[in-house]
Amino acid sequence: MIDFTPTEEQQLLIDTVRQFVRTEIVPLEDELDPDAESLPPPERRRLAERVEQMGLRAWDAPAEVGGPGLDVVTMALLAMEMSQHRAGLYAPCYGVFGGAGLAHLYEGTEYQKQRYLYPTLRGERSGFFALSEPSGGSDPARAIRTTAVRDGDDWILNGHKLWISNADRADYGIVVARTAPGRKGITSFIVDADSPGFTVDRIVHTLRSAHPATELSFDDVRVPDRNRLGAEGEGFTLAAARLVRQRIPYAAGCVGVAVAAHRMAVDYAKIRETFGKKLAEQQGIQWMLVDNEIDIRTARLLVLQAAHRADRGEDVRTDAAVAKLVATEAASRVVDRSMQIHGGLGVAKELPLERWYREMRIRRIGEGPSEVQRLIIARDVLGGAA
Ligand SMILES: Cc1cc2nc3c(=O)[nH]c(=O)nc-3n(C[C@H](O)[C@H](O)[C@H](O)COP(=O)(O)OP(=O)(O)OC[C@H]3O[C@@H](n4cnc5c(N)ncnc54)[C@H](O)[C@@H]3O)c2cc1C
Repeated sequence: MIDFTPTEEQQLLIDTVRQFVRTEIVPLEDELDPDAESLPPPERRRLAERVEQMGLRAWDAPAEVGGPGLDVVTMALLAMEMSQHRAGLYAPCYGVFGGAGLAHLYEGTEYQKQRYLYPTLRGERSGFFALSEPSGGSDPARAIRTTAVRDGDDWILNGHKLWISNADRADYGIVVARTAPGRKGITSFIVDADSPGFTVDRIVHTLRSAHPATELSFDDVRVPDRNRLGAEGEGFTLAAARLVRQRIPYAAGCVGVAVAAHRMAVDYAKIRETFGKKLAEQQGIQWMLVDNEIDIRTARLLVLQAAHRADRGEDVRTDAAVAKLVATEAASRVVDRSMQIHGGLGVAKELPLERWYREMRIRRIGEGPSEVQRLIIARDVLGGAA
């Protein structure tokens, strides 16, 4: 029997982050454009200093690279708090908590950590992660056409990547390329954004307010072998491990937004009157709120269970897939119902619901679409027969 009641220490951290979001971030958003993806620099500096004092700078990094070294359950609980504001899904707390995001780099050499990881954790540099290509993102092991060919101490990269977040403003990126045929022929490289032959070809605006996606081109881009991340042929294993790890906080962020949307719906149902009584007294609305509650409880438990197993060092491929699938789909339903309960106000830009509604739609596609999560779960359920 697993008890997910937060420990005293976890509750203290939850309360600290919750207070920060409610007193610092939410009031600031009243002044910002509803589609804002960053804070004005003076506010950003002020809040980053506050986070530093709270001891939560680079909050998702392990202790050995200078982070607070939180366990996965605690990180999931905090991710559920950090997303509870308008920009919270794709820009939780507008990045003032820092953090690597690119967990790949923890596996890097000391040179790679010094040059890329530590400056990223300090908020001085930022990176992108380029796996998906025009040929497809669901099955990257087969779809990758970008090649890396050895040339002395360097590698020469050629090809295209599509849907890559943050590449238009990043200093470097992790690029997954083919070095030989087959699943074992994929290798990861760290590519500096100012490398000759590397271009951000196109910015693709999507439903998301923050961080447009991009299309990238590699035209004889020369990358030194010391920028190879992991062993040759290990690129897919590294990418898959990163995606599995990433799915738990990704799912937790969705739960946080669902909690915030549901809270708004409950509050509104208690004050809005139609047909002579409060919405909260109409059974049709009560059932919508009950369905929200059930969706949130289910998603939260599955996210925490996956996190708990990750903390025990278990293989969480299936758990993370279940958590990602359920949390993204359940949170989409919660935001949709909460919007419906608000009527016309629900789709107005004055409230965060419309941004959550748009951005939540991407969550069922990004970091492995729902269908890919189902394939992962099917392999577990059916074994070789799948
Ligand atoms: C806003 C945004 C940001 C992104 N950021 C990044 C990023 O930073 N880095 C990066 O590498 N990628 C990124 N992606 C790419 C994302 O991971 C891919 O879009 C995703 O993996 C799906 O790939 P695809 O779009 O090529 O769809 P396809 O692989 O062409 O699949 C099309 C559809 O078919 C479904 N499908 C595929 N196979 C099956 C099957 N066997 N059975 C049933 N259904 C199936 C898929 O689920 C999908 O819905 C981003 C995408 C978006 C929209």
